Amino acid sequence: MRRLDKQNKQPEYDIVVIGGGISGASVAYEATARGLTVALVEKDDFAHATSSATSKMIHGGLRYLQKMEISIVRESLRERRVLANIAPNLVFPLPFLLNSYSHDSIPYVAFKMGMILYDLLSYDKNRLWQDAKKITGHKSYTPEQLLQMEPYIKKEGLKKGLMYYDYANIVPERLTLAFIKSAVAKGAQVANYAKVTGFLVTEGKQVQGVKVRDLHTHEDYDLQANLVINCAGPWADLVLHQSNLLEQPLHLMRSEGIHLIVDKKVNNHVISATIPGKGHCFMGPWRNHTMIGTTDKRYDGDPDAWHVTKESVLELLADANSVFGNDTPIKPSDIKYVYGGLRPLVESKDKDVYGTSRHYEIETYDHEKLTGLVTVAGGKFTTSRSLAEHVVDKAERLTGRPHQKSQTAEQYLEGSNIPDFEAFVKQKTVAYPDMKPEQVRFLCEYYGDKFEDLLSIAEDNPAYLEPLDADGEIGAQVIYAIRQEMALTLGDILFRRTGLGTLGHPGQDCLNKIAQWAAEELHWTKEELQHQIDEVEKQFKVPV
Ligand SMILES: Cc1cc2nc3c(=O)[nH]c(=O)nc-3n(C[C@H](O)[C@H](O)[C@H](O)COP(=O)(O)OP(=O)(O)OC[C@H]3O[C@@H](n4cnc5c(N)ncnc54)[C@H](O)[C@@H]3O)c2cc1C
Repeated sequence: MRRLDKQNKQPEYDIVVIGGGISGASVAYEATARGLTVALVEKDDFAHATSSATSKMIHGGLRYLQKMEISIVRESLRERRVLANIAPNLVFPLPFLLNSYSHDSIPYVAFKMGMILYDLLSYDKNRLWQDAKKITGHKSYTPEQLLQMEPYIKKEGLKKGLMYYDYANIVPERLTLAFIKSAVAKGAQVANYAKVTGFLVTEGKQVQGVKVRDLHTHEDYDLQANLVINCAGPWADLVLHQSNLLEQPLHLMRSEGIHLIVDKKVNNHVISATIPGKGHCFMGPWRNHTMIGTTDKRYDGDPDAWHVTKESVLELLADANSVFGNDTPIKPSDIKYVYGGLRPLVESKDKDVYGTSRHYEIETYDHEKLTGLVTVAGGKFTTSRSLAEHVVDKAERLTGRPHQKSQTAEQYLEGSNIPDFEAFVKQKTVAYPDMKPEQVRFLCEYYGDKFEDLLSIAEDNPAYLEPLDADGEIGAQVIYAIRQEMALTLGDILFRRTGLGTLGHPGQDCLNKIAQWAAEELHWTKEELQHQIDEVEKQFKVPV
């Protein structure tokens, strides 16, 4: 991918997208797929914010049924199926166990009714392109059966349980990148580390583009556009406020959510339980480890200053220990890695953040008599592609373009053109007998149909093929991230292009080796190399 900069930008675009999370990435892809010219700018790295903070679920959102948010659930269930189709290497069926206890405020019969409705709403769940993605409806289990499947479920008071399927978004960062790459393949120009600092606005209140500060080259430039689409997630209100564009400022709530990564506690199901007076807590399988999630706490500070705190970590750990596990509780020292972020939620006066809807809003500012600007607020990762469809429908109307039918639900994402993923993995396992089958699978998942392109990087340097972690990640990924995927920092490589940093510190020798490869490729000075290492060390620290 060639990075958009001051020199190669076009004189004008149909659309400029602010933000390279999943919303911006999906909008950029949808718009270019319909023939519009698009530039996307992201102030940090692609998917560095909320889109990498998720619970890694592509889900209908069973709990939204409690509030009878049928349309969100139905849209999410449809998109769940679409994502399983268009990203077969990144989205996989994931079984959940919903357990009912004698002390629960919600009776088992309510869970059961909810599940029946969930199954009805996912009537088209198996209209899938690959058999291995097919899932069943819900099933009921006795406590004995539940404990046999997942011994980490709490025994005390366990009455019954239900098993149902949603899907796992195994690497949200790479799924976001796949949307970005798909947009680029259709002609979009994109840049990470390019911050929108203001808007180009006429006296007649027509937005005609944005001012950009390139944080990589330290250059300033303007991007002219017929329409600017603000997909800045938790910053969506702040981007607008910096230019005093609006008479009635947007009110966005931010809710913090964090996750803890610990050694394997659950087998292959997500187990979940309600925390009295709070919400729910879950433990799920991820890369042979267990992910614990999540908090949902209002955050009123500056989103740039947000970080995972000791208080939140200890609170989530205490919640998890109170509803899971039967003997030894998980200790703070067992935590290998923490991550999280801020949910951008559309402000609701009478609800707390957990109760606030995950619906999205698309604002066009007709009431402000402001043209040329659209803001997207709220939403879920799962529904981003369909959000983008709605946004681009609006964009076509606002720019007077004829309506084009959306094709993005019908085409594989860039890198995911694999009609039978399981056969693909088998074929690569046979073709590469020197690699462990688990390693081949891991790299097929992360790189999809670019698996061979990745390995070709090691042709000149066999050291790039040596496994660096238990999943069999390799040095070639570091080089590929820089040459092909616009990685500019060590953090981009460790946390968003590869999984080398997302299970915790990879070990000092390994980290130094990766940093050295990156330094050679990106021509870092000694000081810059040390700065990059210092920055990632901060992210590896578990605040307990
Ligand atoms: C704890 C947690 C768990 C979640 N779990 C799930 C889940 O399991 N499944 C699910 O479907 N959803 C989940 N979600 C919701 C989902 O993550 C979000 O809906 C989604 O990621 C929002 O994406 P976004 O692109 O709108 O925001 P972001 O990913 O935050 O992207 C916005 C981007 O805009 C950029 N930006 C801001 N200001 C500027 C500027 N001035 N110039 C340029 N760029 C700018 C930011 O740097 C950022 O990268 C979860 C959210 C949280 C917090």
